[in-house]
Amino acid sequence: MAISDDNELLGFMYACPFGLIELDETGHIGMINPNAMKHLLPLAGADGVENFFLATEKHAPELRNFVEGFAADFGTICDGHRIFVDLGRRNVGGDPRVLSCTLVKRAPNQLIATLSDISAQVSQEYRLRQADTWFSALIDEINDHALLTVDLNGIVLAANTSFTRQTGYEAADVIGGSVEAILSRAQSMGQTPLSITDQLALATRNGWHLFEGWETRADGQRYWCQRLLVARAEAEDEDDRAFSLVLRDVPKPGGKPDDLVELLTRDYLTGATNRMQFQKTLERERVRCTSQGRPMSLIILDLDDFKALNDAHGHPTGDAVLKRVARLGLEHAPERGVFARLGGEEFALLVPDCSLTETTEMAETLRQRIAGMTVAVPGARIAVTASFGCAEMGETDGSSDDLIAIADRRLYEAKHGGRDRVVAS
Ligand code: GH3
Ligand code: MG
Ligand code: MG
Repeated sequence: MAISDDNELLGFMYACPFGLIELDETGHIGMINPNAMKHLLPLAGADGVENFFLATEKHAPELRNFVEGFAADFGTICDGHRIFVDLGRRNVGGDPRVLSCTLVKRAPNQLIATLSDISAQVSQEYRLRQADTWFSALIDEINDHALLTVDLNGIVLAANTSFTRQTGYEAADVIGGSVEAILSRAQSMGQTPLSITDQLALATRNGWHLFEGWETRADGQRYWCQRLLVARAEAEDEDDRAFSLVLRDVPKPGGKPDDLVELLTRDYLTGATNRMQFQKTLERERVRCTSQGRPMSLIILDLDDFKALNDAHGHPTGDAVLKRVARLGLEHAPERGVFARLGGEEFALLVPDCSLTETTEMAETLRQRIAGMTVAVPGARIAVTASFGCAEMGETDGSSDDLIAIADRRLYEAKHGGRDRVVAS
């Protein structure tokens, strides 16, 4: 072919920083540069790299279909198509994990493929997405947080009311100025302080930057502050990127480093697992139990006439009752079991590896314990009961949603049957 006669082009192909392959419509490779060879060899394995479609068959069988389905004489067949490469060996230094492939048809029966390693970019995207999830979780799960929005230069764009409450600075006084005027430089023990520019760069690269240290309020009082700097993922244009800075006034210096994780996975009032974390665990355990052929059961419970209790004794008393119920639930959770607050006065106990019969007994014990406990308030002792619905994975269509739906339906039946009871069929 004309291409292979051109020495200059050969030189270019050799030095080209991404993989270049010339092939025909059957996938037969005419020319391949060293970079393409580097990417293709690990994919091809024993199949060799004579044929592009054969070499990529295991990881991207769709490439052959793209080419076969492309009727025009020339044009772009696919652009930046992602090939996820699972070589079955984790953390092997330098092995690409995501390749970007572009296929261009130059003429009938002459195609050019480019391959480049975009693993770093993809993991950056992943981290940003993760940071975004974290960030939404923070907003949803934590009420007590000061929130600043800052731009790429560390200039404050917005501040919420909790910020004023926490730091004593008025929003109007900080908006338009640098965060460095109001926050200390992030400095861990014995390390160089990080300027806001450095912190923003770290957050941009990793999705977030987490730091804990002393801060000073407007009145000069010091407090221990956990701060999370999150690169907001929604910016189209890099220059418009905004960052959210979440500040938490944490009570004790040197709190556990995973304190924030704790905060994101636990219900703030009762200490039970929160709904988000519960759903993650439920799904993980469902996969495990299903694959190991083991049962998995779920109990959902809801306190009876809780509104009336609140109305009669006040919300703080209601809160105290919720905490006591959660303590009992946590005590009753078996190994691998998860006791969670799904919301309001509704809780769930996930019981992996347990049959419906055993789980129903567990629910019955917990029901009795709740009914038997009293919470002392001035001049009275308050009792509460709960209604329970139990279900087992074997009764479902195989999904976690169905497990919840069945347990929920039974809980509803328990309510209608007179409350303070367990329904498991
Ligand atoms: P049922 O037996 O049918 O479940 O009646 P109920 O009164 O328990 O149910 P309903 O859903 O009508 O009321 C739930 C009440 O729970 C209303 C709400 O004020 C209260 N509640 C929800 N979350 C909390 C909380 O965090 N603390 C307190 N004290 N009360 C809460
Ligand atoms: Mg209720
Ligand atoms: Mg309820």
